[in-house]
Amino acid sequence: MALELNDPFYTEDEALFARTVRAFYDKEMDAKLLELEAAGGEDRAFWAKAAAAGLVGVAIPEEYGGPGASPIFNVILSYELGRSVGYGTIGGNIATDLASMIVMEGGTEAQKHALAPRILAGAIQCMALTEPDAGSDAAAIKTVARRDGDDYVISGSKVYISNGLKADLLYIVAKTDPAAGLRGMTIILVEGDAPGLSRHRLKTMAFPAGGVASLFLDEVRVPVSNRIGEEGGAVALLSKTLAVDRLQTGARALGQAEIAFEMTLDYTRQRKVQGKPLFDLQHTKMKLAEMKTDIAVGRSLFFDHLGRMRSGAYSTVDAAISKNWLCKMSAAVLDQCVQLYGGAGFMDEMPISRLYTANRQFRFVAGTEELLNLQIARSL
Ligand SMILES: Cc1cc2nc3c(=O)[nH]c(=O)nc-3n(C[C@H](O)[C@H](O)[C@H](O)COP(=O)(O)OP(=O)(O)OC[C@H]3O[C@@H](n4cnc5c(N)ncnc54)[C@H](O)[C@@H]3O)c2cc1C
Repeated sequence: MALELNDPFYTEDEALFARTVRAFYDKEMDAKLLELEAAGGEDRAFWAKAAAAGLVGVAIPEEYGGPGASPIFNVILSYELGRSVGYGTIGGNIATDLASMIVMEGGTEAQKHALAPRILAGAIQCMALTEPDAGSDAAAIKTVARRDGDDYVISGSKVYISNGLKADLLYIVAKTDPAAGLRGMTIILVEGDAPGLSRHRLKTMAFPAGGVASLFLDEVRVPVSNRIGEEGGAVALLSKTLAVDRLQTGARALGQAEIAFEMTLDYTRQRKVQGKPLFDLQHTKMKLAEMKTDIAVGRSLFFDHLGRMRSGAYSTVDAAISKNWLCKMSAAVLDQCVQLYGGAGFMDEMPISRLYTANRQFRFVAGTEELLNLQIARSL
């Protein structure tokens, strides 16, 4: 009863890519979930396999050795990750690839030629902006990069960083001009083995084997040539990736609503109440019908916005609308799914419970619901 990929909305290449991604996540994540969980999550070998399958650095242009695909391929990666049971355990991995886009947008020729082969070979990347006292209010970050001759010396801390635990390439947003607010923020690449860098796994509501981490930078010295883009250029560079990031998040939420719906439909057919399948109760059918309808509306919005992205018409307001709506729809579907599971839905051993907790972050990552509503309101 799985909802099929809506192939008519994908180009032939996109549909092919979607199937490759699906096969990869089925084989390398969902089928090996217990193994990966026991090992504390996925590792460089997983990323290297993803790289060999052509799934990392997809937007890196051909002149730097990449496939030069459109950002839609990143959205597809995200959608398929959302459709994976393992996402609730491992969290975001190869689909969180905004870092590559930032390097390709803001990097020098030398940086692009040096970093692209590493990214394409499976180097783990993270982008670190959020701090204990600065999330939505990005201008409040306190991490500072002080110029010292041909080096920057970076000090500060970051929290909630996806892939932060194992990243080889860490793109740190730091203040190079603390008096200049948002215009004084700069992206600087720090290598994973840099002296003065330490990291700690954060225990999270979902992702028991995830790599969300806090980072501490104690006088980390890097050459000025590690700066990505201009001094003070962080916000402009990050803004270029935001629309993709938001459609990716909405896509992941949609994928999760779909897989949770399919699991719940199966469950209601197997679970007996009063001697007959739970599915047979009219109330159950009504709830499933509502969910199916919400998901269908979500898919229409998603494919409409994918089309806008393809034609270059996708705006930041579109991104805020699809991210907010898809994530809210997905949260409502997941909540109803757990309700239909009853107590079983609360048990950690049931995949639905991990999908439910993993779902909760969608409404505040990649721009909180409230800030995105403010953005939509400003366009009125
Ligand atoms: C699983 C996970 C992965 C993440 N990965 C990364 C990552 O890789 N890199 C990274 O840099 N960050 C990452 N984050 C951080 C994420 O981007 C932030 O959590 C998010 O930006 C919100 O910031 P905050 O948590 O500080 O919340 P706050 O900014 O403290 O917001 C708290 C609440 O106040 C509301 N609020 C704040 N300001 C306003 C306002 N002006 N008007 C109305 N309401 C407001 C918010 O909407 C929210 O509801 C991750 C977070 C999670 C949970």
